[in-house]
Order: sequence, then C-alpha cells, then structure tokens
Amino acid sequence: MIKIYNTLTRKKEEFKPVKKGEVGLYSCGPTVYNYVHIGNLRAYIFVDLLKRYLVYRGFKVNHVMNITDVDDKTIRDSQKEKKSLKEFTEFYTKEFLKDLEKLNILPADLMPRATESVDGMVKLIKVLLAKGFAYKTEKGDIYFKISKFKDYGKLALIDPDKLKQNAAGRLEDEYDKEDARDFALWKNYNETDGDVFWETDLGKGRPGWHIECSVMSKQALGQPFDIHTGGVDLVFPHHTNEIAQSECAYGKKFVNYWLHNEHLLVNGQKMSKSKGNFYTLKDLKKYKPEAIRFELLRTHYRTKLDFREDELEQIPNTLQKFYDFMIKLKEADGNCKKIDSVDSLIDKAKEDFETAMDDDLNISSGLAAIFEFMTEINKIMDKLSKEDAKNVKDTMNSFDSVLSIMKQEDEIPAEIMKVVKEREIARKELDWAKSDRLRSELNKLGYHVEDSKKGSRVKRL
Ligand code: AMP
Ligand code: ZN
Repeated sequence: MIKIYNTLTRKKEEFKPVKKGEVGLYSCGPTVYNYVHIGNLRAYIFVDLLKRYLVYRGFKVNHVMNITDVDDKTIRDSQKEKKSLKEFTEFYTKEFLKDLEKLNILPADLMPRATESVDGMVKLIKVLLAKGFAYKTEKGDIYFKISKFKDYGKLALIDPDKLKQNAAGRLEDEYDKEDARDFALWKNYNETDGDVFWETDLGKGRPGWHIECSVMSKQALGQPFDIHTGGVDLVFPHHTNEIAQSECAYGKKFVNYWLHNEHLLVNGQKMSKSKGNFYTLKDLKKYKPEAIRFELLRTHYRTKLDFREDELEQIPNTLQKFYDFMIKLKEADGNCKKIDSVDSLIDKAKEDFETAMDDDLNISSGLAAIFEFMTEINKIMDKLSKEDAKNVKDTMNSFDSVLSIMKQEDEIPAEIMKVVKEREIARKELDWAKSDRLRSELNKLGYHVEDSKKGSRVKRL
C-alpha cells in the first residue's frame, strides 16, 4: 500500500487512483525565460522519483507537464533580445529538456505549451463568467471573484478574510478590481505586450498564469485526476487559484492528491532567480550530472536541502560503490553452487526498499536497504554462481529503475574501450612498455584500468 502526503489534508494517505492501475499525474512546468536552476530541477527530480516508483509498483502513469511560454517575464525578455516570443521560449524549452535528459529525468508523456491552449482557457473563463465567478473590468481585464468561492484557500490553510487585510495595501494600484484579493484570469492587451496577444471572444489580450494549468490538466487527465505536483511556493497562490477556477467551473473536485516538494536552499535561503543565488547545470559542469541527480534525490522531498558544492564532491565515491558492485556481478564466475541465502537476501532487500518507498517515498531508508543488501552480497561475492549473480543484478536493476544512478559500465565510450582492448592485446603479447603507455593514455582521458584474472576493468576517474 502506497502512502503519500497530501497537502490538502496535511496527512499521509493511502493512494487510491481514480482508475484502477492508472495514475494521472500533472506537474507545473517551468516558465521558459531562462535556464532552469537546480532548485527547479529538484522539483522535477522529485516528480521523476515519484513517477518511477509508481511504475515500479505496476501503475501505468500518464504524466503531463505544462510549459509556461507566455507571461510578463517571457514577453519582457524576448523583447530585450529582439526575438519573437516563440523563438525565445522554444530555445529555453529545448535547454530545459536537455537538462532533464542530463539528469536522467524521464520526459513527461505530454508537454503542452500554454500558447497552444488559449482556446481552452477562453472557454473556461467564459464558463466562470457565465456562472458569476468572474467579472470583466472597465479596462477589459477579467478577474476571478474569490468571495464567491466558499472553499477558497483550503489548500494553503489561508483564511480569505485575513488575505483581504494583507491585500488592502495594494488596492490603490489595482483600482480596477472589485476586491483586492481577486486574481487575473485574462489580461487585456497593453502596448508593452508588443505583438503578443490573442483576439478572442473575451477581447484582445492574453491569459493569466493560473488558468493554463486548470485547462491543460483537465484536457489531458480529466477532472478529478490523481496527483498534482509542484514546489511548496506554488501552494499559494498558484495551486489555490487552480482549485478555485476548476472547482467553480465544473462543480466537482479538481485533484485528489496534492504533493509539494520543499525548496533547495543556499545558505538557508530559497534558491531563486530573483535572489540571484542560483546554480544552473552549466554553472556546475565540472561535476558529473549523476552526482547532481544523486544529491537532489537522496534527501526526502519534503525536507529543505541546503545545497553545498563540497557535498557534491563526495558523491562520486558513493556512486562508485554501485558501479563497482554492478561490475563485480557481471564478472561472477558461474562455477560455484547456488547459495540459498541469496534468495532470502533479495526478498529482504525488496521488502525493505518497498516498505520505505511506500511510506511517502522515504528515500533514505530505501537507500539504506540497498546499501545493506550490497554489504551482505559483497561478503559472498566471490562465491556467487552465475544464476545468483543474475538474480542480484536483476534486483539492483529493478531498484535502479526507480533511482537511475547505478549504471556506468555501459557508458564507457567506444573510443576508450578501443584503447582498453589494444592494451589487453599488448599485455597478452607481454609488451609491458606499450601496456603502461596505454594505461597513462587512459588516465589522461579520465579512465582508470585495473587488471584482474578475468581481464581489464575500466572505471571513470
Ligand atoms: P517556476 O519556473 O518558477 O514556476 O518553477 C518551476 C518549479 O520549480 C516549480 O514547481 C517551483 O515550485 C519549483 N522551484 C522553484 N524554486 C525552487 C527551489 N529553490 N527548490 C525547489 N523547487 C523550486
Ligand atoms: Zn501550474
């Protein structure tokens, strides 16, 4: 039984999908006006872990992630660069996808662009207008009227009356709104928007941010759907407003489980573009992406994580333990007899891993179960039969289908393997000078070669 922490109820709840065996999963994607930072990537690593674990548990996951390719920032920065909004946002969308790939984050099944779903947003806003949940101002902007929705703020545990007091100070700037708390569904065209606008039944303008997720999630997954994710900063106002729009328009629950990841920090402060305290993958290119993945993955998603470069330096040693273990398994002899205890070690490791991960993705206990398994198997590694080794390897591979951190041996590039083979031949021919020369050549290329009875073993340095 999988339990996940639902922000809506502030409890760990048993996960029960709308449709047996299937999961509809929606994640708020990035606003593509710049390279994403590793704080954003923590949010996507969390979704990746969740998704991979649900698949491991036998669910068919349908994952949707939007791309916010129109808002104040994308318009402002595309104008600065004298590019069309499309050209500008496509560039950063592609960079985002490349970053996901570097970190072994599986792409979503569907990645709708906000600019391609404006028709649906117009339709939803029309429903809200017709039902009296929205109003148009003299200037032509359309707002959601939050006083009409009695459950407003339930996700964020916000009392709408308190919100009113806080918002009052802003009233002067937004004199057009009936109530300072109301939020924009549609923004009337303004000259600063340049050539970014849609001519619609609502007038000439562009959609607000919150409306896109209400529309794109329902279009792909229906309503209600199972799981909606995002960082904790999105609980209010973004997700709060998504609920307001979707539940008022269709009179039914929007999402069953809301899952939010905590922030990646730098010196105790949220990593964010506006604070300037962020790292992109490009800034961290001296570290292997696998190390960054592991660093972002190994802390529970609901715990704040203070990012430190020196911690990143330690991670290759840990990953090497997985790589070495997998290589040793590959080389198991096959001459020995089957050992009974291997089966029970496998069963225990699986059970411990699953118990941990079923408990709201308790990754540290999950990893501990794997390390304990490796320690026990390492004690009998030399005696392992081919069949036992294969079973252990299959088990590790199934864990790795969730973690995606253990494989390196297959990644040794062909040109490196060519030098390794050449060196093996030199050794067979007892040409030690050549063998030594090729070893230092490999070192220079960043690889270390070890000789054993079974041949050469290559590792990244
Ligand atoms: P944005 O492009 O700002 O909408 O952010 C994309 C995703 O990254 C959202 O789910 C945010 O909540 C999340 N996010 C932003 N900053 C951080 C951070 N420092 N740590 C974790 N998640 C973050
Ligand atoms: Zn969203």
